[in-house]
Amino acid sequence: MSKSWKINLWGVRGSAPTPLMEYMEYGGNTTCISVERENHMVIFDAGTGLTVLGGKLNQQKHMRLDIIISHLHIDHVTGLFLFQPFFSPNMEICLHGGIGLKQHLKQLISSPWWPIGIQDFKAKICFHEIQVGASFNLGNFTVSTMNGNHPGNSILYRLDSDGKSLIYALDCEADEEIVAKIENFSYGSDLIVWDAYFTDEDFVDGWGHSTWKQGIKAGHNAAIKRVLMTHYNHEYTDEFLHSQEEIARKNAICLFAKEGMEIIL
Ligand SMILES: [Zn+2]
Ligand SMILES: [Zn+2]
Repeated sequence: MSKSWKINLWGVRGSAPTPLMEYMEYGGNTTCISVERENHMVIFDAGTGLTVLGGKLNQQKHMRLDIIISHLHIDHVTGLFLFQPFFSPNMEICLHGGIGLKQHLKQLISSPWWPIGIQDFKAKICFHEIQVGASFNLGNFTVSTMNGNHPGNSILYRLDSDGKSLIYALDCEADEEIVAKIENFSYGSDLIVWDAYFTDEDFVDGWGHSTWKQGIKAGHNAAIKRVLMTHYNHEYTDEFLHSQEEIARKNAICLFAKEGMEIIL
């Protein structure tokens, strides 16, 4: 029988956290999204939102967690420093990412940047370094991968199971060439998590980010049911994002992410 997927948004910002009143409605934590299916959780990226999720998971007796990292820019990994389940012997946590993931994270989570290291974690930890283009299985999910278009590279992911599919496409500049590949990769999927760091007006060439308008266009071209905008520019206040959402939501497939939001697939 087809199982439901519970998707939760723990962080929706790009580049830097924004813990200020005028950002609180959409949210101030950097990127982190969880997808839960039965007793298995897949987490996309480990921004500061991961710290919030970690606090909730700490009550769990036993759980398998798979943390999938798109790339190692600091807004996508700072949540790892204080992720409480790392200190629970009941947890089984696998970190997935590009080649060199283990070495880079061991360097990052260590002195002088942090008082403890990965060797101090109590959970059962594993690392899985991905050859981009390959597919692999995580529990009932099949994960497919492709390269993004981002300084230093990023990996885009596709999750499939139960006849459903979700695409995670953050930190990717949607030029013509990559958009054609993304549309192919995501064709007919249920949800795409889209890099909405810029508006068309603010767009800066070469920064490795996209706009919500590009997301809607790709969503329509690839017959995707819903396009979830996130990874907002750290300078975009609630007032500004409201004004953008009002225009964007005229397209029925468009959804603007807010921290704390839950979507059932
Ligand atoms: Zn980012
Ligand atoms: Zn980045």
